[in-house]
Amino acid sequence: MKPTFAFVANWKMYLSPNEESEFLSNYSTDLIALIPDQASLVICPSYLSLPEALKITTSPKVSIGAQACSAYGSGAHTGDISAAALAQIGISHCIVGHSERRTQHHETNQNIAEQAQLLLKAGICPIVCIGETEQERAQSQTNAILEKQLEPIKLACKGAHLWVAYEPIWAIGTGKTPTNTELEQTSSWLKKHLSDIFSDPQLLYGGSISPSEAGRLSSLSNIDGFLIGRASVDFQALKKIVRSCYTPQ
Ligand code: PEP
Repeated sequence: MKPTFAFVANWKMYLSPNEESEFLSNYSTDLIALIPDQASLVICPSYLSLPEALKITTSPKVSIGAQACSAYGSGAHTGDISAAALAQIGISHCIVGHSERRTQHHETNQNIAEQAQLLLKAGICPIVCIGETEQERAQSQTNAILEKQLEPIKLACKGAHLWVAYEPIWAIGTGKTPTNTELEQTSSWLKKHLSDIFSDPQLLYGGSISPSEAGRLSSLSNIDGFLIGRASVDFQALKKIVRSCYTPQ
């Protein structure tokens, strides 16, 4: 496994602000000790907890990321948070294009490219999520779907350094994960494709990462990190996931 492996914890809307700050106060020292020197952990709590999370976590091994940002730079956009505002408080990473944002907030590939572009301009590393449905995979459309999702970002962010999280929609929150062959096929195609466009892209896998699956999935050569949802709000599960990535398979 790569020494620079990245663990991204997507806390979604699972915890209240009090629970988020309690988690970080209780476990940030343990988390720092757990993450090997060149690896990194990015915790993405809710917007409300970002300033508090930044105050609590001071180690360079643990960064704080946001879960989404506006496709607009500034202005009359009620309820939105801009990339520049996230940068101003010290956010280093931001998830964009998560499938829940695509379906629940109707975000398009174009919106997502605009968000990524604004994040890069603000000095924040975008974590761009892409992935196919079960039906699309069954119809052998995976690469075509991923390519379509990436199309506007390729134009908007060509040459930039960013992270891409391959998250098959059928694996998110379902307990299903790809086989080694499935993930190897998709990730090797994707890594090559991304490397032709972006500068040193980091390819993450996300979807039902659990302590029992983490070691297997992290050992695949093109996987540079994980985007972890449900299991990341459970400190014991997160600890087991990180440990199993560093246990020989
Ligand atoms: C996610 O939603 O980004 C995710 C990977 O969720 P889960 O780990 O719960 O499948």
